[in-house]
Amino acid sequence: MWKTIWIAAFGMLIAGTAQAHTGGGDQGGFVSGFTHPLFGWDHVVAMVAVGLWGAFLRAPAIWLLPIIFPVVMAFGGALGVAGVPLPAVETGIALSGVILGLLVAFAVRAPLWVAAVIVGSFAIFHGHAHGTELPEAVSPYSYALGFVVATGLLHLAGIAVGQLTNRPWGSYAVRAAGLIIAAVGGAFLTGAV
Ligand SMILES: [Zn+2]
Repeated sequence: MWKTIWIAAFGMLIAGTAQAHTGGGDQGGFVSGFTHPLFGWDHVVAMVAVGLWGAFLRAPAIWLLPIIFPVVMAFGGALGVAGVPLPAVETGIALSGVILGLLVAFAVRAPLWVAAVIVGSFAIFHGHAHGTELPEAVSPYSYALGFVVATGLLHLAGIAVGQLTNRPWGSYAVRAAGLIIAAVGGAFLTGAV
């Protein structure tokens, strides 16, 4: 099992090298907005982690966190469009993978409001990173819509995998996934990818 996990982790890191966050400039419409989070591992790991953590926290967090993230992300995007500066955006995104991954790895049972604040805070960075360049997109609204839809799908993927937490061995598999997520976030944090 560990061999499989490490191969998967290594594969993710390789993919991350090829698809690292570019910071924009090549934005079009719905399709590019939809594909960006799916192929940017800095976004993927954090967004899947939100679903995984929600699965550990159970209802209502499992459904509230995946709503809070895209809503606050859109708000962060709006701040970016408005030109409101936010320091260390890339660091914030990478850190979201590390922290959310560790919360999953240790199956931390935070109160709902604490979980909401953590998830919401990180969502601002994911949105802001693209809001700043959004006005240059070919169709900004289509791009934003595609981005949010893909984010929702990644949350759902996390929730689906998170259903494994209903089985004794499944909890360990999900927590191991949290470790991988934290490692990928750490790779972005240190600039390894
Ligand atoms: Zn991005």
